Amino acid sequence: KISGLGFIGLGAMGLPMAGHLAAKLPEHIKVFVYDINPASVDQLQQEYPNRIVKGASAKDVADKSDIILTMLPEGKHVRAVYMEGGADADTISASDVSGKLLIDCSTIDTASSLAVKEHMSNKWPTTSFYDAPVSGGVVGAQKGTIAFFLGCDDGDTNLPFLTQLLKLMGQHVITCGGPSKGLAAKLSNNYLSGTIAIAVSEAMDMGMRSGLDPRVLAKVFAAGTGQNTVCDKFCPVPGVVPEAPSSKGYTNGFKVQLMRKDFALALDMAERVGARNVLGPAGLATYDGASNDPRCRDLDSRVVFRYLGGNED
Ligand code: NAD
Repeated sequence: KISGLGFIGLGAMGLPMAGHLAAKLPEHIKVFVYDINPASVDQLQQEYPNRIVKGASAKDVADKSDIILTMLPEGKHVRAVYMEGGADADTISASDVSGKLLIDCSTIDTASSLAVKEHMSNKWPTTSFYDAPVSGGVVGAQKGTIAFFLGCDDGDTNLPFLTQLLKLMGQHVITCGGPSKGLAAKLSNNYLSGTIAIAVSEAMDMGMRSGLDPRVLAKVFAAGTGQNTVCDKFCPVPGVVPEAPSSKGYTNGFKVQLMRKDFALALDMAERVGARNVLGPAGLATYDGASNDPRCRDLDSRVVFRYLGGNED
């Protein structure tokens, strides 16, 4: 029986995700929220005044909730919110979370996720911690169409409930196996989509410099062996796909700095598990450069086409 659900980290993704929970959960369940930025908490409370309750800290939210979700930027933030230590004792592990479900939706390194899981289960053996990173971007979070990559075995007794809960915020829940496997899947996916965006940008550029129209090139790739979703839906060249961020000044997409972050996490993971990745260093250098280039920073990651010198006219 659930009476309270906690949500910590109300940023670009967390705010709309918590909004879906406030709008769709049965009325007797309160949503306790916390963010170090009070403005985002106020915004959500104004939207759902009868459902959203402000928490004083991560511990306070955990005290009052049966399920706690987190959506934070990086591993260091997830460690700080869950684990004791440092100046802040108001962490989730300072609360008795016995029997509670903890779900981290952040995209972080697998080592931090495993460390948090181990810390929580050492201190509170009956608590359950899952990694459940998401794909689909801010627009997907707003529309409730994101996909969750869940670090959970198919036989886990919590799976039916987890699926039901996550589907209030998104469309797909893909079980990836045990702890940190959701993150390993997410990082592998973003490595793939990030390298494809660079490859599409370079292939488009060489074709365009050879006198081809980028719309013709897109048709050729779609019908040929170069077919891929990045080109079909998020073409890095402006004007090819009208709904793509590139056609809207590279706005409303997946920020290039986030791709840089995920790309670096994927490379670390590859090194730890002994996987070769010849494209990785060039990809990281490209996203690093684009993140620090004032013409590209804060824009959709497919702005690598601009960074690599593509012709946008
Ligand atoms: P964001 O920076 O907009 O939001 C993070 C929130 O966490 C902020 O509101 C911040 O104040 C809060 N926060 C930081 N430290 C905190 C603490 N100690 N206690 C409480 N709150 C704290 O980031 P975002 O875009 O919402 O992304 C969150 C995660 O989701 C990241 O790991 C990101 O890689 C991933 N992600 C983002 C997207 C996207 O398109 N933005 C898509 C998929 C996955």
